[in-house]
Amino acid sequence: MTLGGAFATIAGPCAVETERQFLTTAEAVAASGARMLRGGVFKPRTSPYDFQGLGVKGLELLAKARTVTGLPVVTEVISEVDTEIVAEYADMLQVGSRSMFNWRLLESAARTGKPVLLKRSMGATVEEVRDAAAYLREQGAGGVVLCERGIRTFGTATRNTCDLAAVSLLQRMTGLPVIVDPSHSSGARDLVAPLSRAAVAIGADGLIVEVHPDPDRAWSDGAQSLSFQEFEELMRDIEPFVNIWTARRYRPLAKGKGAA
Ligand code: PEP
Ligand code: MN
Repeated sequence: MTLGGAFATIAGPCAVETERQFLTTAEAVAASGARMLRGGVFKPRTSPYDFQGLGVKGLELLAKARTVTGLPVVTEVISEVDTEIVAEYADMLQVGSRSMFNWRLLESAARTGKPVLLKRSMGATVEEVRDAAAYLREQGAGGVVLCERGIRTFGTATRNTCDLAAVSLLQRMTGLPVIVDPSHSSGARDLVAPLSRAAVAIGADGLIVEVHPDPDRAWSDGAQSLSFQEFEELMRDIEPFVNIWTARRYRPLAKGKGAA
């Protein structure tokens, strides 16, 4: 899975809440240049009293959004029991931070043959991410994309600490595309754009960004979600950086020639 070889931004709400919420978000992010949609329907929540996701009804909304926008969709799978049904609807399966060490889940997701987006556990070393990716490759995943989404450190100013060096390290160690999640990395809306610029600069293969029609009323992760307008601004903001780095990655300077 190369994400088409070009920088790609995946966007959408943390969770699919209603048809209107998801479809309006899908159309807005598509219009701003997102290349893939995201939306959780099986949500890994710390508290059992929080919204757990729409389940299969949410999968149907993902498929509807794909039809409306023409964009592929990625959604998280949190249990082996659900991998088949999720694979019926989604173009890519996400294994989240809390599940990265669930090797049976990784194998089950890979065996669907779909591409898998593997998010780094908040407590995983880069070697552990590499090895989790190997479970996916061994079982025939139709591609693997890794995601740096922040790790737990002593810092409390941000929800997690975005380990940008890991992006570069994991690209070299695995040869796989590595994207950055500035939303979960920071937990804060106003840090999403600066982290995104930094992700592009370090050579990330893409971003996954949470966007909501009314972030302050989101059923999950509102504080880190962008409004439609903020997402549009983000896409415009990173465009020149993406162009510079895409040119550098794919058209290296010939040896002995000047920089002209
Ligand atoms: C998500 O992307 O919806 C999510 C729960 O992320 P993470 O697994 O990185 O916490
Ligand atoms: Mn979220």
